[in-house]
Amino acid sequence: MYLYNSLTRKRELFVPNHPDLVKMYTCGPTVYHYAHIGNLRTYIMEDVLEKYLRYAGYPVKRVMNITDVGHLSSDGDTGEDKMLKGARREHKSVMEIAKMYTDAFFADCEKLNIKRPDVVEPATNCIDDYIRIIGTLLDKGFAYRAGGNVYFDTSKLERYYVFNDFNAEDLDVGVREGVEEDANKRNRNDFVLWFTQSKFEDQALKWDSPWGVGYPGWHIECTGISLKHLGEDMDIHCGGIDNAFPHHTNEIAQSESYLGHKWVNFWFHVLHLNTATGKMSKSSGEFLTLSLLEQKGYDPIVYRFFCLQSHYRKNLVFSYENLDNAAAAYGKLVDKIAALDPGAAGEPDPQRLAGFRQRFMKGMDADLNTSLGITALYDVLKDGTDDRTKLAALADFDRVLSLDLLEAAARKRAARPEEEHDPEIEALLAARTAAKKARDFAEADRIRDDLKARGIEVVDTPQGPKWKRI
Ligand code: AMP
Ligand code: ZN
Repeated sequence: MYLYNSLTRKRELFVPNHPDLVKMYTCGPTVYHYAHIGNLRTYIMEDVLEKYLRYAGYPVKRVMNITDVGHLSSDGDTGEDKMLKGARREHKSVMEIAKMYTDAFFADCEKLNIKRPDVVEPATNCIDDYIRIIGTLLDKGFAYRAGGNVYFDTSKLERYYVFNDFNAEDLDVGVREGVEEDANKRNRNDFVLWFTQSKFEDQALKWDSPWGVGYPGWHIECTGISLKHLGEDMDIHCGGIDNAFPHHTNEIAQSESYLGHKWVNFWFHVLHLNTATGKMSKSSGEFLTLSLLEQKGYDPIVYRFFCLQSHYRKNLVFSYENLDNAAAAYGKLVDKIAALDPGAAGEPDPQRLAGFRQRFMKGMDADLNTSLGITALYDVLKDGTDDRTKLAALADFDRVLSLDLLEAAARKRAARPEEEHDPEIEALLAARTAAKKARDFAEADRIRDDLKARGIEVVDTPQGPKWKRI
């Protein structure tokens, strides 16, 4: 499989570090609000990546953090603690907020068929790990204490801007987010590893540390959690593109300084979902949730289908018109599958199946091209092979795409039981069969046209004629 690697800015052949385990890490949600459908785009594409690796035969261990502490309202180290902000907004405690939005996040994931990672770790569970790593960074001279906080010293690195396709403006986090710079920092891009001094005295979550009572910075949690569960190296680290800087850049700085060697092989970044009027952001409070789409009558799986139709490395524009188009395409796809006969006799043809699988993998191997993966579904449906083989191929691809294709088709079939036993239509079908037997083809065609005028299509199958509503 070829995957784009943000680190080298090239598509590279994916080769795992250890043949017996692919180690994968995902930056999880900051649980101070509902996930918006932009966040969910990122998690859908990461889910497809994990499932495709498994499909291709790799055993995978995937770890995700839950950010329940330390993420301030800017991605730099200024502003209010996001969790505290959420708690104030809803008159609840920080832990209540964390639980509520973690549950809401996984409920959304379930509706979107996003598999739960093998390990899900809240940041507040691993404080001792962060303290140990920060202690080592101080000992090695990569960190300093100033104004009560502990900072990472970016000037100690040979190379800090690892994803160096950023311009100077993007790197100027403080200025970009319209918040003041921290005067304790020796260098503009230094970042906080441990806070004891906060402008917000009511900081709800605090722990004792060698540097005073306080709380960890946001970036250190992903280093601590991944080292704890995945060890000193990793194959793929995932996240949305906004995380590349400063979050992932800082993760690399501190992890590699702590370890003394390279940490992550592939950086997988999903580009953003935006609306026509601009960026979707949780902090602005104006964003679309999955529940809102459901209230408007959309099946969550249609949103998944919408995301899979485009490549993860392209910005995606959300509009209801685009979603309606996806809903119509998904509906038609399911109709076509519902028209296949699930009771068709015989075993799937293994050769045909292998050919379909090869075509599917060719698309997915090209940097997870899910739109080619979907095209492979249509190729199967168009093929002249038997229904049993087609259904087997569709079920096989759906292990990765998770579009509930066979289930939705079965529901569609089941929703029309009365049509399957309409005595009048069946009498006409029997008359048409009799006419054909008597070689009265004009009469047989007349009956078929009569049925068509009533919105019924006759399909001749090896098991005899069947009918369906057009
Ligand atoms: P957060 O909960 O804000 O920490 O973000 C959770 C995930 O969603 C991270 O991987 C972000 O990079 C990603 N993300 C944030 N905004 C968007 C967006 N508009 N489109 C796609 N992914 C996003
Ligand atoms: Zn992270």
